Amino acid sequence: VSKRAGKMRCTWFSEAFDHSREQLKEMDDELRSALTNGEFCLNYQPLVDTTSRKVVAVECLLRWQRPDGKHVGPNIFIPVAEESGLINAIGLWVLRQACQDALAWDDITLSVNISAAQLRNPEFPIHLGHILEETGFDPERLELEITETCLVLDPIVAERSLAVIRGFGVRVALDDFGTGYASIGFLRQFRFEKLKLDRSLVVQAGEDDASRAMMLSSITVARAMHMDVTAEGVETEEQADMVRAAGCDQIQGWLYFKAMPAGEIPQHLNRPIGAQSRDDSDPHAKV
Ligand code: C2E
Ligand code: MG
Ligand code: MG
Ligand code: MG
Repeated sequence: VSKRAGKMRCTWFSEAFDHSREQLKEMDDELRSALTNGEFCLNYQPLVDTTSRKVVAVECLLRWQRPDGKHVGPNIFIPVAEESGLINAIGLWVLRQACQDALAWDDITLSVNISAAQLRNPEFPIHLGHILEETGFDPERLELEITETCLVLDPIVAERSLAVIRGFGVRVALDDFGTGYASIGFLRQFRFEKLKLDRSLVVQAGEDDASRAMMLSSITVARAMHMDVTAEGVETEEQADMVRAAGCDQIQGWLYFKAMPAGEIPQHLNRPIGAQSRDDSDPHAKV
């Protein structure tokens, strides 16, 4: 058996970390007990409306603190959970917890990341329906963030599930646009209610003309298709000005907010934030 065969199919992961099968199995076992032992928690990162400068949505971001106190980022452990299928159980936990947390926040949208493996599971819409019923969370305030991979791998199942999900009133956002193979043509092929420009595109658009043109034309197409546009990973005033001028509807990034525990969200609702209000004494200011 070749060395390669012992590694994960998820190539970027094996290239980046070169973990063996055994190490992956070990992490998968840890994730399984993390779920039963309550080692997961959710943080929320606010999205700021470019016009009103108010928080209009929050994105739910999964956090894992191991028993030894170490934090492991989702970019590390989500691919492992996807590989084993554990993401299905973790993802349902995330949805239920997030819907419960967000019940308290009137009017704003709750955005939850859904991985390709979840959307490929034909039972996903049924589980989602149950969670909405059990928690009483308004489906029209829920948005699911998916990536192009979700649709490329298994477009028929994905489209069928998305139709059921939309039937509940839930919106669908295309996440991480500008990375990987996501192209403008892709926007036309499938329907999304929101386009999320990845941080890498936002950063590059501030640095070179071709990337700027790419960002502007994606926004133009998104507009023509009545999609909302969010710029992700905005860290500087220059980037904020640029994406605002480009016509983005929301800004998400450390310039305004990092992800925070649920309990800290209410204090940021219903009051405008932004350039004028940011100074050293302002808790919104980036540290
Ligand atoms: P994403 O969905 O694109 O989430 C945005 C990521 O960008 C988050 O990283 C967030 O903390 C980070 N970010 C936001 N603003 C800034 C900024 O101004 N600068 C920089 N440098 N980073 C910023 P995080 O929390 O580490 O999550 C990474 C990825 O893990 C997410 O990317 C998402 O794909 C995945 N993920 C997180 N939570 C979940 C989950 O519950 N389920 C699934 N399936 N995936 C999740
Ligand atoms: Mg996301
Ligand atoms: Mg994203
Ligand atoms: Mg991203």
